[in-house]
Amino acid sequence: MALTFQIEARSGGARVGRLMTPHGEVETPVFMPVGTQATVKGIGQEALEELGAQLLLANTYHLMLRPGHETVARLGGLHRFMAWERALLTDSGGYQVFSLAERRKVTEEGVEFRSHLDGALHFLSPEKAMEVQQALGADVIMALDECTEYPAGPERARESLELTLRWGARCREVSNQQSAIGSQRRQNRGPSTARSFVPQGGTRSRSARDDKQKEQALTEQAFTEQALFGIVQGGMHTELRRESAERTVAMGFDGYAIGGLSVGEPRELTREMVAATLPHLPAERPRYLMGVGTPEEIVEFAAQGVDMMDCVLPTRAGRHGLLYTSEGRINIKLARFAEDGGPPDPNCGCRVCARYSRAYLRHLYVAGEALAGVLNTLHNLAYYLDTMRAVRHAIKLGNLAEFLSGYRSRNLSSPLAVPGEDPA
Ligand SMILES: [Zn+2]
Repeated sequence: MALTFQIEARSGGARVGRLMTPHGEVETPVFMPVGTQATVKGIGQEALEELGAQLLLANTYHLMLRPGHETVARLGGLHRFMAWERALLTDSGGYQVFSLAERRKVTEEGVEFRSHLDGALHFLSPEKAMEVQQALGADVIMALDECTEYPAGPERARESLELTLRWGARCREVSNQQSAIGSQRRQNRGPSTARSFVPQGGTRSRSARDDKQKEQALTEQAFTEQALFGIVQGGMHTELRRESAERTVAMGFDGYAIGGLSVGEPRELTREMVAATLPHLPAERPRYLMGVGTPEEIVEFAAQGVDMMDCVLPTRAGRHGLLYTSEGRINIKLARFAEDGGPPDPNCGCRVCARYSRAYLRHLYVAGEALAGVLNTLHNLAYYLDTMRAVRHAIKLGNLAEFLSGYRSRNLSSPLAVPGEDPA
């Protein structure tokens, strides 16, 4: 296995674990900020380190089109390119391609699509998705799947899950070949130095030659030791979810993702599908729920045993003046905050809440200042990451149920009126 995952505490279905990646450890359950274009919009990497983010998600689709995965590879891979020394996960590109709707054509071989940037024709096959993700060099990469649209009847959902299984097998095959090449290389060269180099955020070694050697070792390791996750589909059909899970698990991935949710279905159905899938995923491997959710939802899914989640909500909502706080969701644009000298969230320890008032944040937003989005996003991410920290703590203490009931009373899960825009 390319990824070591240790479970350290349990409370009901929930667990606290530790993912050991080539770029440091990640405590789970973890919320991954979304860095679509190799940037979490509005926030510098040093701020993400300060917030305690241990794992970021970047989007393969966007990076293969611009600046191009070959360019990123020539610059030393995604970690070096974006100056992020902690762990990274890339999606397969599938989700974005499928959201192009009219601009794509799916065949057994893969999916042909037109770039949203310049209309140029591209082709994404399972092999190509692997090639691009290997060039980017994230610690965790995803198999190419077909994100089943909503609604989809049982026949359509089955057809789609079968395609995802065949594509998953092709990705697994590429990964197996790379592992074989890698272990052959390591045997030929003797023990690798990569394991001894686990960079911590913000630290850089002084010697350029050391840097070069370590970079080479890491690049080689990334190429051969990227963890590959399979993705469960099955639409909104519990029986198909079970079958997709079982057959994906039979292929032996490093971790398992639940895909095809948050695609416009009622939230109750999302919960039902997650509950129908989790029991069929192996307890000893990480489980990743893709594209979910509100603070209340990430707490609930962590309680059910989900280990990893990502969502654009905290960043996107922040840019639209919506703040998640311990007192509920607030819309900072409202006139009632015009003379509110209190902090955005009196119970938050982030540097925005320590320094600025609601009145100031409202003023920045109304005046159209760039700092509005930056500060709102910083606070929202702090809120999400602190929430997950609190969940991990509650699991360790065994009082998760109490913690959950506190969350349910905060009015965080009502649908957000966030206008649509480009991803993340
Ligand atoms: Zn705050």
